Amino acid sequence: MGKPTGFIEYLRELPLDRPAIKRIKDWNEFHYHMEDKKLQEQGARCMDCGIPFCHTGALLSGMASGCPINNLIPEWNDLVYRGLWREALDRLHKTNNFPEFTGRVCPAPCEGSCVLGINNPPVTIKNIECSIIDKGWEQGWVVPEAPAVRTGKKVAVVGSGPAGLCAAAQLNRAGHAVTVFERADRVGGLLMYGIPNMKLDKSLVQRRVDQMAKEGVAFVTNTEVGKNYPAEKLRKEFDAIVLCTGATKPRDLPIEGRQLKGIHFAMEFLHANTKSLLDQHKNGNYISATDKDVMIIGGGDTGTDCVGTALRHGCKSLVQLEILPKPPLDRAADNPWPEWPKVYKLDYGQEEAAALFGADPRVYLTTAKKFVGDDSGAVEAVHTVEIKWEKNEKGQFAPKEVPNTEKVRPVQLVLLAMGFLGPEQPLIEQLGVERDARSNAKAEYGNYATSVPGIFAAGDARRGQSLVVWAFNEGRGAARECDRYLMGSTNLP
Ligand SMILES: Cc1cc2nc3c(=O)[nH]c(=O)nc-3n(C[C@H](O)[C@H](O)[C@H](O)COP(=O)(O)OP(=O)(O)OC[C@H]3O[C@@H](n4cnc5c(N)ncnc54)[C@H](O)[C@@H]3O)c2cc1C
Ligand code: SF4
Repeated sequence: MGKPTGFIEYLRELPLDRPAIKRIKDWNEFHYHMEDKKLQEQGARCMDCGIPFCHTGALLSGMASGCPINNLIPEWNDLVYRGLWREALDRLHKTNNFPEFTGRVCPAPCEGSCVLGINNPPVTIKNIECSIIDKGWEQGWVVPEAPAVRTGKKVAVVGSGPAGLCAAAQLNRAGHAVTVFERADRVGGLLMYGIPNMKLDKSLVQRRVDQMAKEGVAFVTNTEVGKNYPAEKLRKEFDAIVLCTGATKPRDLPIEGRQLKGIHFAMEFLHANTKSLLDQHKNGNYISATDKDVMIIGGGDTGTDCVGTALRHGCKSLVQLEILPKPPLDRAADNPWPEWPKVYKLDYGQEEAAALFGADPRVYLTTAKKFVGDDSGAVEAVHTVEIKWEKNEKGQFAPKEVPNTEKVRPVQLVLLAMGFLGPEQPLIEQLGVERDARSNAKAEYGNYATSVPGIFAAGDARRGQSLVVWAFNEGRGAARECDRYLMGSTNLP
């Protein structure tokens, strides 16, 4: 701890964001960088706690408290304070393969459990992380590091999201010949085609993929294993397989009128949008929100990304339905520190909608009851209804309609962002991998071995839809266990 009084002397400060009303005119990232001096002061706020809760990654009440990949946060906070950026980067890379991704998109459970946060705003851990790695790239400190020795073993990683990329990077580091299979035309999973460009610039994803390719990882795109690449062939050609296929089955809303034109799953909208952007709109093949009244059903991260994207298209109006109640402004009594704070947050998309239309677009405790179409079969209205949560006969909370609260809202585009129901099943079935009760690939956390010897599962395919940082945790862990399976022992962390 370089500066014992830092947390007293300096207030929490974050870099400015580009003004909401301006940034919705483009697809560029919206955070500015902070100057080094300010970052050093922010690093000085860290108290180097005897028990650094920021770094624990323990599960409390089912949510991560502290960093799930156990980033060495107090160490790099101190190194940043002392201006030792290169050393800070080395510490950061010890636990995190791709800090530029978590530094941009992680909800930062580390900050939710920071000890300073008990009675002060927490240390700006996420921004410091992002600044360290961005400086590392700027200075040319991040270079391809191919392994000195090859083992002669071949590993297939199926799926190139954050879990697959971490597994591939670690297995390659251990000297195995790694091939990553991806059904999309670009590598990155939801880092590429889920999270929009303004939150995570796609050139940063591609930069890492290029670096990994230079280190020897082979990427095979436009190839869906189990469809245009037989699962049996994969088994024969590789010594081990790591399944990182994500949890991509979307939750539907089977109400009257669901078949109408203009009602889409969020991922159809987001994927096509980013693809069109990266293809420089040559194909023009995306779902447009321009001049439309848009309704987004679902209030999570995916819904927020739909809000930000629809605004950039120039939608006419926008409503976001959330079935849960509005969270409190401060921690509730049953949500104490160091648990993840379940408090109201104006995320970037809602902030932009508020700047343009005057208010947060979320409507809480409300759901859609039916869609109504026009003569051409296109959606033109949604009937919504307020709900309340009551215990049912099994003692579980369930939504119940509030009588006489039905409203009709005009819409020409509806985006369903209500979460995901687990991994797609065909490949898991073809490989004969057992599933758990939620249809995920069954494998114990920390061990990652499925019911089929030599096949491992990690990320959303194993745990269900989660966070990038958990995908990192699992991809790294699965690589470690896969290496142990192949070599009898492992040095991977
Ligand atoms: C819109 C959206 C926004 C999100 N925003 C955030 C955020 O801001 N912060 C955060 O922490 N988390 C966020 N998440 C969650 C996070 O992106 C996921 O938890 C994470 O990407 C899971 O990583 P993964 O590698 O397990 O799977 P994925 O990223 O889903 O990658 C799986 C990949 O496998 C490929 N695949 C599937 N089957 C096959 C096959 N048979 N053959 C070849 N390839 C196959 C898929 O095409 C996909 O590319 C968001 C999720 C969504 C949907
Ligand atoms: S909990 Fe907060 S103050 Fe303590 S070591 Fe971690 S970042 Fe620093």
